[in-house]
Amino acid sequence: AAAEPQPKGLLSRLLRRDTDKAEPRRTLDDDMLEQIEELLIASDMGVDTALRVTANLAEGRMGRRVSTREIKELLATEIARIMDPVARPMPLYPKRPQVVLVVGVNGSGKTTTIGKLASQFRAAGKKVVIAAGDTFRAAAVEQLQVWGDRAGVPVLTAPEGSDPASLAFDALTRAQADGADLLMIDTAGRLQNRADLMEELAKIVRVIRKKDETAPHNTLLVLDATTGQNALSQVETFRKLADVSGLVMTKLDGTAKGGVLVALADKFGLPIHAIGVGEQIDDLAPFDPEEFAAALTG
Ligand code: GDP
Repeated sequence: AAAEPQPKGLLSRLLRRDTDKAEPRRTLDDDMLEQIEELLIASDMGVDTALRVTANLAEGRMGRRVSTREIKELLATEIARIMDPVARPMPLYPKRPQVVLVVGVNGSGKTTTIGKLASQFRAAGKKVVIAAGDTFRAAAVEQLQVWGDRAGVPVLTAPEGSDPASLAFDALTRAQADGADLLMIDTAGRLQNRADLMEELAKIVRVIRKKDETAPHNTLLVLDATTGQNALSQVETFRKLADVSGLVMTKLDGTAKGGVLVALADKFGLPIHAIGVGEQIDDLAPFDPEEFAAALTG
């Protein structure tokens, strides 16, 4: 027999079972709860969060007859309840230039996200400068320049292997002189040597504070949603390396396992400023909890 098309949403398995039956309602019992838990865990929500969500769902409803649609709606409500408080765009301050440090492991989508953000801010009438602070990866610097060109935003670079902190200092000097609204600083993402990376990030912060003691105003951690539960340990690691103020989740277009966002919100409560939904310059969207919950449970 031909392979069946993969059902899209998390709970489609339950839904399919129901549509096969004349009686669409089932009793909410331990067996059903366990199935829901499994589905949530399979979405990368993590065991703790999945258990909490199902416990909330079950409260006062055990033994009742429920339809899959009701369960989906209840789950979506529970998930949106966890996600609502973290759905916040990156705050903009009156401070000019506002300094945004961008951190994350290589491949997470830092470069792409900086390009997309630069384009959005520019479209909103902001003057933006980018500093290519990953000075050890020539390819990263080139890539950032491509994105800067696309967004129509200048990208400041330094010779390969030079001190990122010194580049950041020069970039802030330039951004101040130009009256820029925003300076976005890319950083290295090599986690292989955490002590080095920690020192590098700390030095960038120390040096830019010589020019502006309130900087950086935001420290964005870029996370790849397709890495699943790995994203949780990346948050833990980067919170030790830098004062992370918010998250951008990339590659949500490429995964049915976005459940990790729920785990992140549940565990850390860090704001999710935006989500990456593709590789093009406009593929960065505000995070919408209701839409997300509906897609996850769909
Ligand atoms: P960096 O090493 O962290 O700077 O990562 P890049 O910005 O170079 O991105 C790594 C890869 O992920 C590239 O191929 C990007 O096109 C891709 N990418 C980044 N963001 C997204 C996204 O939101 N969706 C998809 N599908 N791909 C993305």
